[in-house]
Amino acid sequence: MTWQARIHSALDARRALDAYRERRVVENGAGRFLTREGQQFCNFSSNDYLGLSQHPQIVHAWQQGAERYGVGSGGSGHVSGYTTAHQALEESLADWLGYPRALLFISGFAANQAVIAAMMGKDDRIVADRLSHASLLEAANLSPAQLRRFAHNEAAQLSALLDKPCAGQQLVVTEGVFSMDGDSAPLRAIYDAATQHNAWLMVDDAHGIGALGDEGRGSAHEQKVKPELLVVTFGKGFGASGAAVLCSDAVAEYLLQFTRHLIYSTSMPPAQAVALSASLAVIRSADGAERRARLAHHVHRFRQGLHHLPFQSTDSLSAIQPVIVGENGRALALAQSLRDRGIWVTAIRPPTVPAGTARLRLTLTAAHEDQDIDALLEALHVASQ
Ligand SMILES: *Cc1c(COP(=O)(O)O)cnc(C)c1O
Repeated sequence: MTWQARIHSALDARRALDAYRERRVVENGAGRFLTREGQQFCNFSSNDYLGLSQHPQIVHAWQQGAERYGVGSGGSGHVSGYTTAHQALEESLADWLGYPRALLFISGFAANQAVIAAMMGKDDRIVADRLSHASLLEAANLSPAQLRRFAHNEAAQLSALLDKPCAGQQLVVTEGVFSMDGDSAPLRAIYDAATQHNAWLMVDDAHGIGALGDEGRGSAHEQKVKPELLVVTFGKGFGASGAAVLCSDAVAEYLLQFTRHLIYSTSMPPAQAVALSASLAVIRSADGAERRARLAHHVHRFRQGLHHLPFQSTDSLSAIQPVIVGENGRALALAQSLRDRGIWVTAIRPPTVPAGTARLRLTLTAAHEDQDIDALLEALHVASQ
């Protein structure tokens, strides 16, 4: 097949499955409202769970950081791109989460790729929750290690897989809060299973960090578990972007030696690190606690309302509230009918979620008002008639 033919046939196959993905240009899309072509929508698609992307103190910190450091870091952290701003952020993250070290990455996707690539060799085995994020499963597929997946949140099945002989080391991989279902992993049971088998645990808490637990310390802290590798990302609860890996001194030194994503890539702009430090300060403050309480209140209000509607959901208590409809076409039609009523949601389809579970992935945030939640429920009610 020629290049042309291969590309066209892949695109045609996507269209035939109602699985074609399109970006929509928006004027602004992170906060309570999304504006597109001058029209304002109430936004239920943003991962900015605490509403920090528009927080004046954090915006100001980014501006100040740019005044002081300029817009770029000028190089990889191993050359000249590791500034006092990066160091200060790493130290406050480590202090906040109770780890000896934190290492910054450009994104959560990069952090997951980097850690798995650096840690795993050909005799090793990765045992991952079946619903783990694409960045984790792709990294596992690219690594020379064997990949085994356990049924979602089934610690007993995880244990059985870990029992099978392995010549090298085993790494258990899961998320704190699952990105498409919004439910939490039983981290205590998973950690115990890993420890009993001398395996290490890697938890990606992209959706728990900042949003859950005391001072927003996330899923692992809330369940009193300390994974050997904890990945936190800044594109969700922190309202910006970037990521960090929390680990021991020895693991941090090892990653600094062997992680190509750190050695051969420009570090994040120092101004972004300044903004992230400001974001962390808000997350730990009374302002942050109030935002978490508002979010929890919205989740409760929404779930009470959804209970009376003929839609399937999960037992999520997080900001992520799926409305599962099954067929791709139905999910697309439901998303469109909500948009017609001024509510912005996106239909999520396979392969992002398992076949036959196309859904709306609704995200509630601290930036919403009660009336927004009620309008969302009303629109879902109308669409279900
Ligand atoms: C969003 C997400 C990532 C990717 O993080 P980015 O910083 O957006 O690259 C990784 N893991 C999970 C579970 C996520 O939801």
